[in-house]
Amino acid sequence: MLARSAAVARRLVDIVLPPLCLGCGEIVATPGTLCVACWPAYSFIAAPHCACCGTPFAEDLGEEALCGSCLARRPRFRRARAALIYDDKSRRLVLPFKHGDRTDMARACGAWMARAGADLLAEAELVAPVPLHWRRLFTRRYNQALLLARSVSRQTSLVLAPDLLRRRRWTGSQAGLAAKERRSNVREAFEVHPRWAGGLKGKTVVLVDDVLTTGATVEACVRALKRGGAAHVDVLTLARVVRPAL
Ligand SMILES: [Zn+2]
Ligand SMILES: [Zn+2]
Repeated sequence: MLARSAAVARRLVDIVLPPLCLGCGEIVATPGTLCVACWPAYSFIAAPHCACCGTPFAEDLGEEALCGSCLARRPRFRRARAALIYDDKSRRLVLPFKHGDRTDMARACGAWMARAGADLLAEAELVAPVPLHWRRLFTRRYNQALLLARSVSRQTSLVLAPDLLRRRRWTGSQAGLAAKERRSNVREAFEVHPRWAGGLKGKTVVLVDDVLTTGATVEACVRALKRGGAAHVDVLTLARVVRPAL
């Protein structure tokens, strides 16, 4: 009887609240999807791309090809992949997370990320989020990188380590610091949680964030994870900034 009324209630919710397109809010058949009109407007990243950082290439240069930036300086992470190019469209997907009530969106974004990072996830043992940025700590109540990491771990059955990294206690404002001091502040901003001491040795970690921009934050995280004993660290984000090729 209870089960039946629950099923009736669910059907009622479906009638009252039909699934809506994540992009435009039009009614769609399946929850957590984009409608046929929105889908082509999103810049999903596919091969060919840089073997290391995942920057999309205009032409296929081979599976092992690296972009100019990775050739000039190899990042600290082993590989980075993203589901989408960060542009006006994907920005609108990233921003609603701020309101915290879009669990349908986290599920869809996690599925896109799991597809984009399939090779990375197949070799990984742990999924961990970038801890909330110190500047956002006061304006947000939760970490959207954690929402995405949780969604990715659910789709892959990988172990989620929500507290693997933590921010060190912030000793002061960045204001008044020279650029070099700021960089070194970020560089030392993370540490492996003492709870994971010894538990990280030799492990392969997929580090999750919402957007990859300059890479300074994730590289600081990778530095801390390597110091904590991780063997390999790959990076998986919902979106990434793509600069025009030089
Ligand atoms: Zn739509
Ligand atoms: Zn690259």
